[in-house]
Amino acid sequence: MKIIMLGAPGAGKGTQAKMIADKYHVPHISTGDIFRANIKNGTELGMEAKKYMDQGLLVPDELTVKILLDRVAKDDCQNGYVLDGFPRTIPQAEVLDKALSEINDKIDFAINVDVPDENIIRRMGGRRACLSCGATYHVEHVPPQKEGICDACGKELVLRDDDKPETVGNRLDVYHKQTQPLIDFYSAKGILKTVDGTVDMKDVFAAIVSILG
Ligand code: ADP
Ligand code: AMP
Repeated sequence: MKIIMLGAPGAGKGTQAKMIADKYHVPHISTGDIFRANIKNGTELGMEAKKYMDQGLLVPDELTVKILLDRVAKDDCQNGYVLDGFPRTIPQAEVLDKALSEINDKIDFAINVDVPDENIIRRMGGRRACLSCGATYHVEHVPPQKEGICDACGKELVLRDDDKPETVGNRLDVYHKQTQPLIDFYSAKGILKTVDGTVDMKDVFAAIVSILG
């Protein structure tokens, strides 16, 4: 099963993608996590990506597409995957479609987690991320057992640089201009499914499971 998660930054794509990955035994692939791991390890790719991420801009398609195509070519992706944060532009979606059609394959579902901008702004300020294992928390909705410490790996939790209020507005603008058109793109292909992302995350997941079967 090949699934794409769509939605604004902070809509809950990563939260739901992790649950999907666990239930359906497919890898969760987040281009944002891949970039953050590269930044942490000081790679050339990380340095380049950081310039854009810190401003709330998208990393250029040339860099992003290659990373994603390399990742989905790995053995663990044979039975499918859930993509979180990719594609974010129409050209990215077209490249992915083309790569899949070359192997007689296609995306099965594009799940749009729908959350209005007002809720997003409140959510992002409360998000805390573990840059070591990629786990995500929220100071109110999903607090870790010990404040500031990742339940999964024991490392320190941080407010991502790009979740600071001055950057969130830019990310939402970028989302509306560059990523939202993907909703029509996948709707035209007949694989778009929209779920209400404002309800409790367990209820969001139940709605997704009823779609995926
Ligand atoms: P995205 O991957 O779309 O950027 P995340 O999954 O990281 O979003 O979620 C953004 C923040 O909102 C996180 O702090 C997360 O814990 C919290 N969150 C996710 N889903 C919900 C929900 N249904 N209700 C409340 N908070 C949520
Ligand atoms: P995320 O963790 O998905 O919120 O992504 C964090 C940041 O990484 C984004 O704001 C972008 O700067 C960059 N990024 C992640 N995925 C992509 C993508 N598919 N295309 C371009 N930039 C991306």
